[in-house]
Amino acid sequence: MYFDGKIAIVTGAGSGIGKGTALHLAKLGATVVAVGRSLEPLEELVATISEGGTRALAIAADVSDEADMQAAFDQVQEQFGRLDILFANAGINGTWTPIEDMSPADWDEVMAVNLRGTFLSVHRAIPLMRKAGGGAIVINSSINGTRTFTLPGTSAYCATKAGQVAFTKSAALELARYRIRVNAICPGRIESNIHDNPKPGTEKIAIRIEYPDGDIPLTGGVSGKPEDVAEVVAFLASDASRHVTGSVIFVDGAQSLMI
Ligand code: NAD
Repeated sequence: MYFDGKIAIVTGAGSGIGKGTALHLAKLGATVVAVGRSLEPLEELVATISEGGTRALAIAADVSDEADMQAAFDQVQEQFGRLDILFANAGINGTWTPIEDMSPADWDEVMAVNLRGTFLSVHRAIPLMRKAGGGAIVINSSINGTRTFTLPGTSAYCATKAGQVAFTKSAALELARYRIRVNAICPGRIESNIHDNPKPGTEKIAIRIEYPDGDIPLTGGVSGKPEDVAEVVAFLASDASRHVTGSVIFVDGAQSLMI
């Protein structure tokens, strides 16, 4: 199979895009290490993957916590001795609110999970990928902060998602010497658990925008599914994209070209 013998870490694998991608990479033969904040959904995922005949491992870790991440990657080192694929996917919307109302703690939380978490994941992946003679890293950014800025109250979220793209390009250049490729994806609206975050006061700053034909042109407004993203991640994780690094792929049905 495509990813036979490959070890893949997926962060935020307990739900949404991470879960869909973990299942897809496993279906293509990868041994998946599912990392996330709570163990229960990860163990359910591992059970599902194992039923399909592929090996998987669940590790509870907060991606923004240095000690947690060190322990998680140490476990991968002990069990597998290498790493081929990293999908740095864990992320939160945080609290969406006007900048003047936003508490520094709310700002810090989004930075910690989305940006520090991405850094810690890549930082810890490098030595393991070097042992494997190279690797593929895919960072899950967003259309928000890269092409789209109209969702009210998302200034902190947008800053992290733009930061992830800048980090992707710097890392691609720096890590090319180790044959580690680093690419980013920018999904549009995808079905997942992320949308239930608090949004206090955003009605005060919302700008009304009307779309006559739905806001995702390719689907007539229907959200994408985690599987739609998973297939793109698999491409960027595979040798089919062996000459692609520092690139950004929008997975949004042209949503971000409208807004
Ligand atoms: P989701 O909430 O279903 O999944 C996020 C997962 O990350 C959850 O399982 C959660 O437990 C985990 N997580 C959160 N904080 C964590 C932490 N500190 N440590 C470890 N795990 C943590 O949402 P999703 O939409 O699948 O989000 C995945 C990524 O996709 C995020 O980075 C998000 O910004 C990005 N994204 C989502 C959409 C969308 O519309 N769903 C669009 C663009 C980008």
